[in-house]
Amino acid sequence: MQDNYQRDINYLRVSVTDRCNLRCVYCMPPQGVQTVSHEEILRIEEIETIVRAAALIGVKKIRLTGGEPLLRKGLAQLTQCIANIPGIDDITLTTNGLLLPSCVAALKEAGLNRVNISLDTMRADRYREITRGGDLSGAWKGIQSALDAGLHPVKLNTVIIRDFNDDEAVSMARLTLKRPLHIRFIELMPIGSCNSWAKGRFVPAREVMGQVTARLGQLFPVKTLAGGGPAKYYRFKDAEGTVGFITSMSEHFCNSCNRLRLTAGGGLRPCLYDGREIDLKTPLRKGAGAREITDLIMDAITMKPDRHHMLDGWRDGRRVMSQIGG
Ligand code: SAM
Repeated sequence: MQDNYQRDINYLRVSVTDRCNLRCVYCMPPQGVQTVSHEEILRIEEIETIVRAAALIGVKKIRLTGGEPLLRKGLAQLTQCIANIPGIDDITLTTNGLLLPSCVAALKEAGLNRVNISLDTMRADRYREITRGGDLSGAWKGIQSALDAGLHPVKLNTVIIRDFNDDEAVSMARLTLKRPLHIRFIELMPIGSCNSWAKGRFVPAREVMGQVTARLGQLFPVKTLAGGGPAKYYRFKDAEGTVGFITSMSEHFCNSCNRLRLTAGGGLRPCLYDGREIDLKTPLRKGAGAREITDLIMDAITMKPDRHHMLDGWRDGRRVMSQIGG
């Protein structure tokens, strides 16, 4: 379905849990956040009904995210249910990768097509610091398990943060020379409780691109990479992987935004930045079927704003990224 700005809305990001096994400093406060209770989290069948309803109006692509989606029990079962829904042709996952080795085969078998793994640094001490306690070798095992399982492409999400990891952009980009890894440098967004922290640490993507090309040579634009999305992809001469840049802040791409976000508690959010959500859980639990849910999804699409205004600050005091679904 098209929204009021002639954008084709065909992508639903589903947060399957708001819990996380890491506490990334730009994502969550140290004490964590109030999580939704077990009863309030959408059940597998409820998510399935919502995806079925969304598929009726043209949603084709589903991303499973969180919180940390691999903490959700029954994720392979959910993946399989979604894969069986007519109209859904792409299922992807965003994860920190730590739990991936033990479940990647089952997820692929269930219908998972691709995976994005978050990796902000290649240094163990920094990984521990940015994630507040995470183990870098575990993340690498997750990345290797995705490659071994034949998921393609394996994309790495790297948020570049001033005076934290901006000196690693070159070494991270170098990873793509000899390995089929697709690194995406993401601009830090001033979201949630970390809003004020993020302000002085923002690094524009063009600065990151300047650093990597100065050291590693010219980047050539890449026409297509499965999943497309907001990143602009490039490749070094003869490299196996690619380097992408996501310019959410310096050059927003709202005019091509095709997504909706479903929170773990059943709120349908037309825009990451816009605090408005349509509650799908209450009607579902009162017996609404796919048809009624489709009507509510259409309402959310109609509410979708023309663009975000994150440069003016974060206005949703209720939620941080892990609660919306990153
Ligand atoms: N736990 C999973 C993971 O680590 O990928 C999925 C959820 S996480 C919230 C999804 C993505 O959001 C991660 O790649 C993370 O780096 C990104 N993210 C979180 N807060 C962000 C912010 N303020 N600015 C930019 N990216 C952010």
